Amino acid sequence: MEDFLTIEDIDVTGKTVLLRGDFNVPLDKQSGQITDQRRLEAALPTIEYLLLKNAKVIACSHMGRPKGEKVPALSLKIVADKFSQLVDNPVKFVDDCIGEKVDKAKSELNPGEMLILENLRFYPQEKANDVNFSQQLARGIDIYVNDAFGTAHRAHASTVGVANIFKEKGLSLAGFLMIKEIKYLSAAIKHYTRPVIAILGGSKIKGKIELIENFSSFVDSLLIGGGMVYTFLKAQGYNIGKSILDEDSIPVARNILSHIGREAKVNFIIPADSITAEQIKEHADCQVYQNDEIPDQAIGVDIGPLTVKIFKQAIENAKTIIWNGPMGIFEIDCFAEGTRQVAQAVARATDQGALSVLGGGDTAAAVAKFDMEDNFSHISTGGGASLEYMSGRSLPALQALNSR
Ligand code: ADP
Ligand code: MG
Repeated sequence: MEDFLTIEDIDVTGKTVLLRGDFNVPLDKQSGQITDQRRLEAALPTIEYLLLKNAKVIACSHMGRPKGEKVPALSLKIVADKFSQLVDNPVKFVDDCIGEKVDKAKSELNPGEMLILENLRFYPQEKANDVNFSQQLARGIDIYVNDAFGTAHRAHASTVGVANIFKEKGLSLAGFLMIKEIKYLSAAIKHYTRPVIAILGGSKIKGKIELIENFSSFVDSLLIGGGMVYTFLKAQGYNIGKSILDEDSIPVARNILSHIGREAKVNFIIPADSITAEQIKEHADCQVYQNDEIPDQAIGVDIGPLTVKIFKQAIENAKTIIWNGPMGIFEIDCFAEGTRQVAQAVARATDQGALSVLGGGDTAAAVAKFDMEDNFSHISTGGGASLEYMSGRSLPALQALNSR
């Protein structure tokens, strides 16, 4: 089912290709410059392949949250300029994504050239998956290619509407980044080698409940860290001081604890101790407490040393490791140790042949902070999309692609 038709399966030579990319790069608020171009670099294999095949590449994407209005600060012109450098060839830009001006620019493009369209989300029709908007995007196009894994969980005009138009003709294809993401994520959650462990962290349980449920259906061990720990501890009756609490999720946490306890198939590991502080700031005064000794004023900011030891043992023996969510407030150096230790253990296991797949924007940011981005099998470029995929949901943009 997930054996998508790719740009290598169809002859793209000389064809006009609509490429939906994920060029949603962060910009510096003051200078307006791109602060992190990794998403553009990740798009290069597909772009370079298409250009090499002399396709006419019409590339489109969203950037930021313009909320259906033209916001000059969120123009994709800056992305077109950056791509000119990256592909070492002038990349054209048109300041709209539909309409006469765009149709003209499309028709004037030469084989082996790329044209970037303006931010799709300047139109509310993009998010509304508007039929007419999709038809306008499709105008003058021979083949549709989706390489935007980061928006694959959204049914928008550029990810689903226009894809379905080409799916009928058997010309709705997956780009290389899309293929790579699915290959690794499905290797982790479907075609894994045991023992499989999932490490889950982040601030809240909310938004990760389906992830926990899906993981508990197949993993051997489920390790819990981060802020969500305290909702589990609270559900077990512990005092958690001033730690982050997801009050609404206490029943869910209780349910998970009793459910997993009953089935007893999954080794569900909750931290035994925490690093705490009374204030969330650099150089804070930190204390280590076992679960039953957390005082009223303490905030749990990281997993404790005993927990690190237990987690490392589980990670060491794993053959497949899925990691989503930092173990503590890693943005602050003195609360980053648990996340760093887990990252190092996962990296070591990867070195010894385990498959490691990381998802979630902050998890990716954490390993980037530790300068460890090359130490894992795969770091997903899609935050929300990777969470939904790993929760076992089918992503609408994937369903709109042709399979082999
Ligand atoms: P991801 O983006 O990787 O999916 P999340 O967005 O779920 O991760 O969570 C990341 C955030 O969780 C980080 O900003 C981190 O500071 C926060 N966090 C981790 N541990 C704690 C904690 N003990 N208390 C409060 N926040 C925490
Ligand atoms: Mg996040």
